[in-house]
Amino acid sequence: MTIMDTALRPVSDTIDVPTELYVAGTWRPAAGGRRFDVFNPASGEALTSVADADVNDAIAAVDAAEAAAKDWAASAPRARADVLMRAFHLMHERREELALLITLENGKALADARSEVTYAAEFFRWYAEEAVRLRGQLGVSPSGANRILVTHQPVGISVLITPWNFPAAMATRKIAPALAAGCTTILKPASETPLTALAVASLLEEAGVPSGVLNVITTKRSGPVVDALLTDHRTRMLSFTGSTEVGSLLLRTAADSVLKCAMELGGNAPFLVLADADLDAALDGAMVAKMRNGGQACTAANRFFVQAPIHDAFVEGLVSRMAAIAIGPGADESFQCGPLVNAGAVEKVDALVRDAVARGARAVLGGRPVDGPGYFYPPTVLVDVPRDARILHEEVFGPVAPVVRFEQEEEALALANATPYGLVSYLYTADLARGLRLAQGIESGMVGLNRGLVSDPAAPFGGSKQSGLGREGSTEGLLEFTEIQYIATSW
Ligand code: NAP
Repeated sequence: MTIMDTALRPVSDTIDVPTELYVAGTWRPAAGGRRFDVFNPASGEALTSVADADVNDAIAAVDAAEAAAKDWAASAPRARADVLMRAFHLMHERREELALLITLENGKALADARSEVTYAAEFFRWYAEEAVRLRGQLGVSPSGANRILVTHQPVGISVLITPWNFPAAMATRKIAPALAAGCTTILKPASETPLTALAVASLLEEAGVPSGVLNVITTKRSGPVVDALLTDHRTRMLSFTGSTEVGSLLLRTAADSVLKCAMELGGNAPFLVLADADLDAALDGAMVAKMRNGGQACTAANRFFVQAPIHDAFVEGLVSRMAAIAIGPGADESFQCGPLVNAGAVEKVDALVRDAVARGARAVLGGRPVDGPGYFYPPTVLVDVPRDARILHEEVFGPVAPVVRFEQEEEALALANATPYGLVSYLYTADLARGLRLAQGIESGMVGLNRGLVSDPAAPFGGSKQSGLGREGSTEGLLEFTEIQYIATSW
Protein backbone atom coordinates (compact mmCIF):
# COMPACT_ATOMS: atom_id res chain seq x y z
CA MET A 1 0.00 0.00 0.00
CA THR A 2 1.44 3.35 -0.99
CA ILE A 3 1.01 5.90 1.71
CA MET A 4 2.31 9.43 1.54
CA ASP A 5 3.65 9.74 5.02
CA THR A 6 6.54 8.18 6.82
CA ALA A 7 4.74 7.17 10.03
CA LEU A 8 3.90 3.68 8.81
CA ARG A 9 3.90 0.38 10.59
CA PRO A 10 3.62 -3.10 9.12
CA VAL A 11 0.32 -4.86 9.88
CA SER A 12 0.99 -7.91 7.76
CA ASP A 13 3.64 -8.96 5.23
CA THR A 14 1.96 -6.81 2.58
CA ILE A 15 0.39 -3.85 4.37
CA ASP A 16 1.90 -0.80 6.03
CA VAL A 17 -0.54 1.67 7.59
CA PRO A 18 -0.20 4.98 9.40
CA THR A 19 -0.78 4.56 13.12
CA GLU A 20 -0.53 8.15 14.36
CA LEU A 21 -3.23 10.80 14.66
CA TYR A 22 -4.01 12.78 11.52
CA VAL A 23 -4.41 16.42 12.53
CA ALA A 24 -3.97 19.55 10.42
CA GLY A 25 -2.59 17.51 7.54
CA THR A 26 0.19 15.90 9.58
CA TRP A 27 0.63 12.48 11.15
CA ARG A 28 1.60 12.93 14.76
CA PRO A 29 1.73 11.05 18.05
CA ALA A 30 -0.86 11.62 20.76
CA ALA A 31 -0.05 14.60 23.02
CA GLY A 32 0.45 12.28 25.99
CA GLY A 33 2.54 9.83 23.94
CA ARG A 34 0.19 6.95 24.72
CA ARG A 35 -0.71 4.13 22.34
CA PHE A 36 -3.14 1.20 22.38
CA ASP A 37 -3.09 -2.21 20.72
CA VAL A 38 -5.30 -3.31 17.84
CA PHE A 39 -6.14 -7.02 17.79
CA ASN A 40 -6.84 -9.64 15.14
CA PRO A 41 -10.11 -11.30 16.24
CA ALA A 42 -9.20 -14.47 14.32
CA SER A 43 -6.25 -15.10 16.63
CA GLY A 44 -6.65 -12.74 19.58
CA GLU A 45 -3.13 -11.46 18.85
CA ALA A 46 -2.09 -7.81 18.58
CA LEU A 47 -1.60 -6.56 15.00
CA THR A 48 0.02 -3.26 15.92
CA SER A 49 -0.65 -0.25 18.12
CA VAL A 50 -2.05 3.20 17.33
CA ALA A 51 -1.90 6.62 18.98
CA ASP A 52 -4.25 7.02 21.94
CA ALA A 53 -5.59 10.58 21.76
CA ASP A 54 -6.60 12.57 24.81
CA VAL A 55 -8.67 15.70 25.29
CA ASN A 56 -5.78 17.97 24.16
CA ASP A 57 -5.62 16.12 20.84
CA ALA A 58 -9.39 16.53 20.44
CA ILE A 59 -9.08 20.28 20.89
CA ALA A 60 -6.14 20.38 18.45
CA ALA A 61 -8.34 18.62 15.90
CA VAL A 62 -11.10 21.20 16.36
CA ASP A 63 -8.45 23.96 15.99
CA ALA A 64 -7.36 22.38 12.69
CA ALA A 65 -10.94 21.97 11.45
CA GLU A 66 -11.67 25.58 12.33
CA ALA A 67 -8.56 26.89 10.57
CA ALA A 68 -9.56 25.09 7.37
CA ALA A 69 -13.32 25.74 7.55
CA LYS A 70 -13.63 29.08 5.75
CA ASP A 71 -11.56 28.17 2.70
CA TRP A 72 -13.13 24.73 2.32
CA ALA A 73 -16.67 26.12 2.58
CA ALA A 74 -15.78 28.71 -0.08
CA SER A 75 -14.04 26.24 -2.41
CA ALA A 76 -15.64 25.47 -5.78
CA PRO A 77 -18.04 22.52 -5.63
CA ARG A 78 -16.22 21.11 -8.66
CA ALA A 79 -12.91 21.21 -6.77
CA ARG A 80 -14.46 19.28 -3.87
CA ALA A 81 -16.02 16.84 -6.33
CA ASP A 82 -12.64 16.25 -8.00
CA VAL A 83 -11.02 15.34 -4.69
CA LEU A 84 -13.80 12.88 -3.91
CA MET A 85 -13.63 11.32 -7.36
CA ARG A 86 -9.86 10.83 -6.99
CA ALA A 87 -10.53 9.14 -3.65
CA PHE A 88 -13.04 6.83 -5.37
CA HIS A 89 -10.43 5.74 -7.93
CA LEU A 90 -7.67 5.35 -5.33
CA MET A 91 -9.93 3.21 -3.18
CA HIS A 92 -10.57 0.91 -6.11
CA GLU A 93 -6.84 0.68 -6.86
CA ARG A 94 -6.20 -0.26 -3.21
CA ARG A 95 -9.20 -2.58 -2.94
CA GLU A 96 -7.25 -5.72 -2.15
CA GLU A 97 -5.00 -4.14 0.47
CA LEU A 98 -7.89 -2.32 2.14
CA ALA A 99 -10.00 -5.48 2.16
CA LEU A 100 -7.20 -7.43 3.83
CA LEU A 101 -6.74 -4.66 6.39
CA ILE A 102 -10.48 -4.73 7.21
CA THR A 103 -10.36 -8.51 7.55
CA LEU A 104 -7.31 -8.39 9.81
CA GLU A 105 -8.70 -5.93 12.33
CA ASN A 106 -12.44 -6.69 12.05
CA GLY A 107 -12.38 -10.41 11.28
CA LYS A 108 -14.93 -10.51 8.44
CA ALA A 109 -14.36 -12.87 5.51
CA LEU A 110 -12.31 -11.42 2.66
CA ALA A 111 -15.26 -11.60 0.24
CA ASP A 112 -17.31 -9.48 2.69
CA ALA A 113 -14.39 -7.08 3.11
CA ARG A 114 -14.02 -6.66 -0.67
CA SER A 115 -17.75 -5.89 -0.94
CA GLU A 116 -17.36 -3.36 1.83
CA VAL A 117 -14.52 -1.57 0.03
CA THR A 118 -16.58 -1.40 -3.17
CA TYR A 119 -19.59 -0.07 -1.22
CA ALA A 120 -17.41 2.39 0.72
CA ALA A 121 -15.81 3.75 -2.46
CA GLU A 122 -19.25 4.34 -3.99
CA PHE A 123 -19.94 7.07 -1.41
CA PHE A 124 -16.97 9.01 -2.77
CA ARG A 125 -18.30 8.67 -6.32
CA TRP A 126 -21.92 9.41 -5.41
CA TYR A 127 -21.05 12.55 -3.42
CA ALA A 128 -18.53 13.70 -6.04
CA GLU A 129 -21.56 13.75 -8.33
CA GLU A 130 -23.87 15.33 -5.73
CA ALA A 131 -21.40 18.07 -4.70
CA VAL A 132 -22.12 20.00 -7.90
CA ARG A 133 -25.90 19.51 -7.82
CA LEU A 134 -26.90 21.10 -4.51
CA ARG A 135 -29.89 23.26 -5.42
CA GLY A 136 -31.79 25.90 -3.46
CA GLN A 137 -35.16 27.52 -4.15
CA LEU A 138 -36.53 30.84 -5.26
CA GLY A 139 -40.12 31.85 -4.51
CA VAL A 140 -42.23 34.96 -4.21
CA SER A 141 -43.75 35.98 -0.89
CA PRO A 142 -47.57 35.62 -1.03
CA SER A 143 -47.85 39.35 -0.29
CA GLY A 144 -45.65 40.08 -3.28
CA ALA A 145 -43.40 42.18 -1.06
CA ASN A 146 -40.19 40.23 -1.65
CA ARG A 147 -38.53 37.14 -3.05
CA ILE A 148 -37.79 34.11 -0.88
CA LEU A 149 -34.30 32.87 -1.66
CA VAL A 150 -33.34 29.57 0.00
CA THR A 151 -29.77 28.24 -0.03
CA HIS A 152 -27.92 25.40 1.70
CA GLN A 153 -24.83 26.42 3.66
CA PRO A 154 -22.26 23.96 5.06
CA VAL A 155 -23.32 23.24 8.64
CA GLY A 156 -19.74 23.68 9.87
CA ILE A 157 -17.32 21.60 11.90
CA SER A 158 -18.66 18.05 11.99
CA VAL A 159 -17.72 15.27 14.41
CA LEU A 160 -18.03 11.86 12.77
CA ILE A 161 -18.14 8.81 15.06
CA THR A 162 -18.11 5.33 13.55
CA PRO A 163 -18.50 1.70 14.72
CA TRP A 164 -16.21 -1.28 14.09
CA ASN A 165 -18.54 -3.45 11.97
CA PHE A 166 -18.06 -1.58 8.65
CA PRO A 167 -14.86 0.36 9.38
CA ALA A 168 -14.47 1.69 5.82
CA ALA A 169 -18.07 2.20 4.68
CA MET A 170 -19.34 3.84 7.86
CA ALA A 171 -16.46 6.33 7.58
CA THR A 172 -16.88 7.16 3.87
CA ARG A 173 -20.70 7.38 4.25
CA LYS A 174 -20.03 10.36 6.54
CA ILE A 175 -16.80 11.86 5.17
CA ALA A 176 -18.00 12.02 1.55
CA PRO A 177 -21.22 14.03 2.11
CA ALA A 178 -19.58 16.23 4.76
CA LEU A 179 -16.74 17.17 2.41
CA ALA A 180 -19.10 17.56 -0.55
CA ALA A 181 -21.22 19.99 1.49
CA GLY A 182 -18.13 22.05 2.38
CA CYS A 183 -17.74 21.01 6.03
CA THR A 184 -14.50 20.31 7.83
CA THR A 185 -14.46 17.15 9.91
CA ILE A 186 -13.04 15.18 12.81
CA LEU A 187 -13.41 11.40 12.49
CA LYS A 188 -13.31 9.26 15.65
CA PRO A 189 -13.30 5.61 14.56
CA ALA A 190 -14.08 2.67 16.86
CA SER A 191 -11.09 1.61 18.93
CA GLU A 192 -11.53 -1.99 17.70
CA THR A 193 -10.86 -0.95 14.07
CA PRO A 194 -8.86 2.29 13.82
CA LEU A 195 -6.46 1.09 11.10
CA THR A 196 -8.96 1.16 8.24
CA ALA A 197 -9.99 4.72 9.13
CA LEU A 198 -6.34 5.80 9.14
CA ALA A 199 -5.78 4.12 5.77
CA VAL A 200 -8.85 5.93 4.37
CA ALA A 201 -7.49 9.24 5.70
CA SER A 202 -4.15 8.58 4.05
CA LEU A 203 -5.91 7.87 0.77
CA LEU A 204 -7.87 11.13 1.05
CA GLU A 205 -4.64 12.99 1.73
CA GLU A 206 -3.25 11.54 -1.48
CA ALA A 207 -6.47 12.52 -3.28
CA GLY A 208 -5.76 16.14 -2.33
CA VAL A 209 -7.91 16.89 0.73
CA PRO A 210 -6.41 20.12 2.14
CA SER A 211 -4.89 20.23 5.63
CA GLY A 212 -7.43 20.35 8.42
CA VAL A 213 -10.45 19.40 6.29
CA LEU A 214 -10.30 15.83 7.60
CA ASN A 215 -8.76 15.04 10.99
CA VAL A 216 -8.65 11.58 12.54
CA ILE A 217 -8.45 10.97 16.27
CA THR A 218 -7.97 7.40 17.46
CA THR A 219 -8.50 6.83 21.15
CA LYS A 220 -9.22 4.25 23.78
CA ARG A 221 -10.83 6.98 25.90
CA SER A 222 -13.83 7.75 23.73
CA GLY A 223 -15.96 9.14 26.60
CA PRO A 224 -13.86 12.20 27.54
CA VAL A 225 -12.45 12.71 24.03
CA VAL A 226 -15.88 12.76 22.36
CA ASP A 227 -17.19 14.91 25.19
CA ALA A 228 -14.45 17.46 24.46
CA LEU A 229 -15.30 17.42 20.75
CA LEU A 230 -19.03 17.87 21.31
CA THR A 231 -18.83 20.53 23.99
CA ASP A 232 -16.38 22.72 22.05
CA HIS A 233 -18.50 25.70 20.99
CA ARG A 234 -16.96 25.62 17.48
CA THR A 235 -18.43 22.16 16.70
CA ARG A 236 -21.79 22.34 14.87
CA MET A 237 -22.69 18.78 13.91
CA LEU A 238 -22.59 15.24 15.29
CA SER A 239 -22.91 12.37 12.85
CA PHE A 240 -22.89 9.11 14.81
CA THR A 241 -23.22 5.46 13.85
CA GLY A 242 -23.29 2.92 16.64
CA SER A 243 -25.51 1.48 19.34
CA THR A 244 -28.74 3.12 20.49
CA GLU A 245 -27.36 3.12 24.04
CA VAL A 246 -24.29 5.23 23.21
CA GLY A 247 -26.23 7.30 20.67
CA SER A 248 -28.78 8.45 23.21
CA LEU A 249 -25.97 9.30 25.64
CA LEU A 250 -24.32 11.49 23.00
CA LEU A 251 -27.64 13.15 22.09
CA ARG A 252 -27.81 14.36 25.69
CA THR A 253 -24.32 15.86 25.44
CA ALA A 254 -25.11 17.37 22.05
CA ALA A 255 -28.24 19.00 23.48
CA ASP A 256 -26.17 21.40 25.60
CA SER A 257 -24.69 23.01 22.48
CA VAL A 258 -27.84 22.39 20.36
CA LEU A 259 -25.76 20.50 17.78
CA LYS A 260 -27.31 19.26 14.59
CA CYS A 261 -27.41 15.45 14.96
CA ALA A 262 -27.63 12.59 12.47
CA MET A 263 -27.84 9.27 14.30
CA GLU A 264 -27.59 5.81 12.74
CA LEU A 265 -28.33 3.45 15.62
CA GLY A 266 -29.10 -0.17 16.40
CA GLY A 267 -31.61 -2.46 14.70
CA ASN A 268 -33.69 -5.58 15.31
CA ALA A 269 -34.73 -6.44 11.76
CA PRO A 270 -37.70 -8.77 11.20
CA PHE A 271 -37.60 -11.07 8.15
CA LEU A 272 -41.15 -12.04 7.12
CA VAL A 273 -41.77 -14.95 4.77
CA LEU A 274 -45.36 -15.31 3.58
CA ALA A 275 -46.70 -18.62 2.39
CA ASP A 276 -46.88 -17.47 -1.24
CA ALA A 277 -43.20 -16.43 -1.33
CA ASP A 278 -40.69 -17.93 -3.75
CA LEU A 279 -38.92 -20.21 -1.26
CA ASP A 280 -35.51 -20.22 -2.96
CA ALA A 281 -35.51 -16.44 -3.34
CA ALA A 282 -36.50 -16.07 0.33
CA LEU A 283 -33.70 -18.41 1.40
CA ASP A 284 -31.13 -16.60 -0.76
CA GLY A 285 -32.29 -13.29 0.70
CA ALA A 286 -32.24 -14.71 4.22
CA MET A 287 -28.62 -15.76 3.83
CA VAL A 288 -27.57 -12.29 2.67
CA ALA A 289 -29.63 -10.52 5.33
CA LYS A 290 -28.39 -12.83 8.09
CA MET A 291 -24.84 -13.73 7.17
CA ARG A 292 -23.31 -10.58 5.65
CA ASN A 293 -20.43 -9.76 7.98
CA GLY A 294 -21.20 -12.91 10.02
CA GLY A 295 -24.43 -11.33 11.27
CA GLN A 296 -22.60 -8.29 12.66
CA ALA A 297 -24.59 -5.67 10.76
CA CYS A 298 -27.21 -3.19 11.96
CA THR A 299 -29.28 -4.39 9.01
CA ALA A 300 -28.86 -8.08 9.91
CA ALA A 301 -32.09 -10.09 9.96
CA ASN A 302 -32.55 -10.64 13.67
CA ARG A 303 -35.95 -12.41 13.78
CA PHE A 304 -37.41 -14.73 11.15
CA PHE A 305 -41.22 -14.93 11.05
CA VAL A 306 -42.38 -17.62 8.65
CA GLN A 307 -45.99 -18.43 7.76
CA ALA A 308 -47.08 -21.92 8.84
CA PRO A 309 -47.51 -23.63 5.43
CA ILE A 310 -43.93 -22.79 4.37
CA HIS A 311 -42.28 -22.90 7.83
CA ASP A 312 -40.78 -26.41 7.79
CA ALA A 313 -39.47 -26.15 4.23
CA PHE A 314 -37.92 -22.75 5.04
CA VAL A 315 -36.20 -24.13 8.16
CA GLU A 316 -34.89 -27.13 6.24
CA GLY A 317 -33.49 -24.91 3.48
CA LEU A 318 -32.00 -22.45 5.97
CA VAL A 319 -30.28 -25.20 7.96
CA SER A 320 -28.75 -26.71 4.86
CA ARG A 321 -27.48 -23.33 3.61
CA MET A 322 -26.16 -22.27 7.04
CA ALA A 323 -24.47 -25.67 7.55
CA ALA A 324 -22.59 -25.20 4.26
CA ILE A 325 -20.82 -22.07 5.54
CA ALA A 326 -17.25 -22.70 6.59
CA ILE A 327 -16.04 -20.63 9.53
CA GLY A 328 -12.42 -19.74 10.14
CA PRO A 329 -9.95 -16.85 9.82
CA GLY A 330 -11.43 -14.39 7.32
CA ALA A 331 -8.10 -13.87 5.58
CA ASP A 332 -8.19 -17.48 4.40
CA GLU A 333 -10.40 -17.54 1.30
CA SER A 334 -11.70 -21.02 2.08
CA PHE A 335 -13.85 -19.56 4.89
CA GLN A 336 -17.03 -17.60 4.27
CA CYS A 337 -17.59 -16.57 7.89
CA GLY A 338 -14.91 -15.06 10.10
CA PRO A 339 -14.82 -14.58 13.88
CA LEU A 340 -16.92 -12.18 15.92
CA VAL A 341 -15.13 -8.99 16.85
CA ASN A 342 -14.07 -9.88 20.39
CA ALA A 343 -14.61 -12.21 23.34
CA GLY A 344 -17.44 -10.05 24.69
CA ALA A 345 -19.36 -10.46 21.43
CA VAL A 346 -19.14 -14.27 21.69
CA GLU A 347 -20.33 -14.14 25.30
CA LYS A 348 -23.30 -11.96 24.34
CA VAL A 349 -24.40 -14.22 21.46
CA ASP A 350 -23.95 -17.30 23.65
CA ALA A 351 -26.03 -15.76 26.45
CA LEU A 352 -28.90 -14.96 24.04
CA VAL A 353 -28.88 -18.49 22.59
CA ARG A 354 -28.76 -20.06 26.06
CA ASP A 355 -31.66 -17.90 27.21
CA ALA A 356 -33.78 -18.93 24.19
CA VAL A 357 -32.98 -22.63 24.72
CA ALA A 358 -33.74 -22.38 28.44
CA ARG A 359 -37.17 -20.98 27.51
CA GLY A 360 -37.92 -23.87 25.13
CA ALA A 361 -36.25 -23.08 21.78
CA ARG A 362 -34.38 -25.87 19.95
CA ALA A 363 -31.00 -25.38 18.27
CA VAL A 364 -31.30 -27.39 15.03
CA LEU A 365 -27.86 -26.18 13.95
CA GLY A 366 -24.93 -24.85 15.99
CA GLY A 367 -25.73 -23.34 19.37
CA ARG A 368 -22.36 -23.40 21.16
CA PRO A 369 -19.24 -21.21 20.82
CA VAL A 370 -16.22 -22.68 19.08
CA ASP A 371 -13.09 -23.10 21.21
CA GLY A 372 -10.33 -20.53 20.59
CA PRO A 373 -7.93 -19.20 19.55
CA GLY A 374 -10.02 -16.40 18.09
CA TYR A 375 -13.61 -15.45 18.77
CA PHE A 376 -15.74 -17.82 16.72
CA TYR A 377 -19.43 -18.63 16.94
CA PRO A 378 -20.91 -21.09 14.41
CA PRO A 379 -23.90 -20.50 12.13
CA THR A 380 -26.90 -21.37 14.30
CA VAL A 381 -30.60 -21.92 13.62
CA LEU A 382 -33.12 -21.88 16.47
CA VAL A 383 -36.73 -23.06 16.06
CA ASP A 384 -39.78 -22.97 18.36
CA VAL A 385 -38.43 -19.75 19.78
CA PRO A 386 -40.86 -18.44 22.43
CA ARG A 387 -41.94 -14.85 21.97
CA ASP A 388 -40.51 -13.70 25.27
CA ALA A 389 -36.99 -14.98 24.46
CA ARG A 390 -34.42 -12.17 24.75
CA ILE A 391 -33.05 -13.01 21.31
CA LEU A 392 -36.25 -11.67 19.72
CA HIS A 393 -35.92 -8.35 21.53
CA GLU A 394 -32.17 -7.61 21.50
CA GLU A 395 -29.72 -7.17 18.64
CA VAL A 396 -27.97 -10.56 18.25
CA PHE A 397 -24.97 -9.31 16.21
CA GLY A 398 -23.90 -12.84 15.32
CA PRO A 399 -24.67 -15.72 12.92
CA VAL A 400 -27.81 -16.87 14.74
CA ALA A 401 -31.22 -17.17 13.06
CA PRO A 402 -34.18 -17.54 15.44
CA VAL A 403 -37.28 -18.73 13.53
CA VAL A 404 -40.87 -18.17 14.69
CA ARG A 405 -43.96 -19.69 13.02
CA PHE A 406 -47.02 -17.47 12.43
CA GLU A 407 -50.52 -18.08 11.03
CA GLN A 408 -52.09 -14.76 9.99
CA GLU A 409 -50.49 -11.82 8.23
CA GLU A 410 -51.77 -9.36 10.90
CA GLU A 411 -50.01 -11.43 13.54
CA ALA A 412 -46.73 -11.18 11.61
CA LEU A 413 -47.06 -7.43 11.32
CA ALA A 414 -47.69 -7.09 15.05
CA LEU A 415 -44.67 -9.29 15.81
CA ALA A 416 -42.47 -7.31 13.41
CA ASN A 417 -43.44 -4.02 15.04
CA ALA A 418 -43.10 -5.27 18.62
CA THR A 419 -39.71 -3.61 19.12
CA PRO A 420 -38.45 -0.15 19.96
CA TYR A 421 -36.15 -0.39 16.91
CA GLY A 422 -37.16 0.53 13.36
CA LEU A 423 -34.14 0.35 11.07
CA VAL A 424 -35.00 -2.18 8.37
CA SER A 425 -37.47 -5.01 7.71
CA TYR A 426 -37.47 -7.74 5.08
CA LEU A 427 -40.58 -9.13 3.48
CA TYR A 428 -41.02 -11.96 0.98
CA THR A 429 -44.24 -12.51 -0.96
CA ALA A 430 -45.10 -13.24 -4.59
CA ASP A 431 -47.94 -10.71 -4.42
CA LEU A 432 -46.44 -7.27 -4.94
CA ALA A 433 -49.60 -5.39 -3.93
CA ARG A 434 -49.77 -7.36 -0.69
CA GLY A 435 -46.06 -6.71 -0.15
CA LEU A 436 -46.43 -2.96 -0.62
CA ARG A 437 -49.47 -2.87 1.68
CA LEU A 438 -47.57 -4.76 4.40
CA ALA A 439 -44.43 -2.65 3.86
CA GLN A 440 -46.46 0.47 4.62
CA GLY A 441 -47.64 -1.09 7.88
CA ILE A 442 -44.12 -1.92 9.01
CA GLU A 443 -42.52 0.58 11.35
CA SER A 444 -39.05 0.87 9.88
CA GLY A 445 -37.11 3.41 7.88
CA MET A 446 -36.24 0.82 5.21
CA VAL A 447 -37.94 -2.28 3.83
CA GLY A 448 -36.39 -4.98 1.66
CA LEU A 449 -39.32 -6.27 -0.43
CA ASN A 450 -38.16 -9.57 -1.94
CA ARG A 451 -34.62 -8.26 -1.29
CA GLY A 452 -32.15 -9.31 1.42
CA LEU A 453 -29.96 -6.21 0.96
CA VAL A 454 -31.05 -2.57 1.07
CA SER A 455 -27.75 -0.66 1.36
CA ASP A 456 -27.17 1.64 -1.61
CA PRO A 457 -25.32 4.98 -1.77
CA ALA A 458 -28.17 6.38 -3.89
CA ALA A 459 -30.85 5.48 -1.31
CA PRO A 460 -31.70 7.24 1.98
CA PHE A 461 -30.38 4.84 4.62
CA GLY A 462 -31.70 5.25 8.15
CA GLY A 463 -34.13 4.21 10.80
CA SER A 464 -37.28 5.24 12.60
CA LYS A 465 -38.11 4.83 16.32
CA GLN A 466 -34.95 4.18 18.39
CA SER A 467 -32.91 3.24 15.31
CA GLY A 468 -32.01 6.81 14.58
CA LEU A 469 -32.52 10.31 13.32
CA GLY A 470 -31.74 11.50 9.80
CA ARG A 471 -30.50 9.66 6.73
CA GLU A 472 -27.18 8.77 5.09
CA GLY A 473 -26.65 8.30 1.37
CA SER A 474 -28.74 9.88 -1.37
CA THR A 475 -29.40 13.63 -1.49
CA GLU A 476 -30.73 13.48 2.08
CA GLY A 477 -27.29 12.45 3.30
CA LEU A 478 -25.81 15.61 1.79
CA LEU A 479 -28.53 17.85 3.23
CA GLU A 480 -27.73 16.53 6.73
CA PHE A 481 -24.42 18.43 6.49
CA THR A 482 -26.08 21.69 5.48
CA GLU A 483 -28.03 24.42 7.17
CA ILE A 484 -30.84 26.14 5.32
CA GLN A 485 -30.45 29.87 4.89
CA TYR A 486 -33.41 31.96 3.73
CA ILE A 487 -32.76 35.44 2.39
CA ALA A 488 -35.75 37.76 2.06
CA THR A 489 -34.79 39.68 -1.06
CA SER A 490 -36.15 42.79 -2.69
CA TRP A 491 -34.98 43.81 -6.10
P1 NAP B 1 -20.92 1.52 20.01
O1 NAP B 1 -20.39 0.76 21.16
O2 NAP B 1 -22.11 2.37 20.22
O3 NAP B 1 -19.71 2.41 19.47
C1 NAP B 1 -19.85 3.25 18.37
C2 NAP B 1 -18.83 4.36 18.46
O4 NAP B 1 -19.09 5.14 19.63
C3 NAP B 1 -17.39 3.87 18.57
O5 NAP B 1 -16.56 4.77 17.88
C4 NAP B 1 -17.15 3.94 20.07
O6 NAP B 1 -15.80 4.09 20.41
C5 NAP B 1 -17.92 5.18 20.44
N1 NAP B 1 -18.30 5.21 21.85
C6 NAP B 1 -18.60 4.15 22.65
N2 NAP B 1 -18.91 4.60 23.88
C7 NAP B 1 -18.81 5.94 23.86
C8 NAP B 1 -19.01 6.97 24.83
N3 NAP B 1 -19.39 6.68 26.08
N4 NAP B 1 -18.82 8.24 24.45
C9 NAP B 1 -18.45 8.53 23.21
N5 NAP B 1 -18.24 7.60 22.23
C10 NAP B 1 -18.42 6.33 22.56
O7 NAP B 1 -21.27 0.57 18.79
P2 NAP B 1 -20.38 -0.56 18.14
O8 NAP B 1 -20.35 -1.72 19.08
O9 NAP B 1 -19.07 0.00 17.67
O10 NAP B 1 -21.23 -0.92 16.83
C11 NAP B 1 -22.30 -1.77 16.85
C12 NAP B 1 -23.60 -0.98 16.90
O11 NAP B 1 -23.65 -0.05 15.83
C13 NAP B 1 -24.82 -1.87 16.74
O12 NAP B 1 -25.81 -1.47 17.64
C14 NAP B 1 -25.25 -1.59 15.30
O13 NAP B 1 -26.61 -1.83 15.04
C15 NAP B 1 -24.90 -0.16 15.16
N6 NAP B 1 -24.75 0.20 13.75
C16 NAP B 1 -25.72 0.96 13.18
C17 NAP B 1 -25.63 1.28 11.82
C18 NAP B 1 -26.68 2.11 11.16
O14 NAP B 1 -26.43 2.57 10.05
N7 NAP B 1 -27.83 2.33 11.75
C19 NAP B 1 -24.53 0.84 11.08
C20 NAP B 1 -23.56 0.06 11.71
C21 NAP B 1 -23.68 -0.25 13.05
P3 NAP B 1 -14.98 2.89 21.13
O15 NAP B 1 -14.77 1.87 20.09
O16 NAP B 1 -13.74 3.53 21.58
O17 NAP B 1 -15.83 2.39 22.25
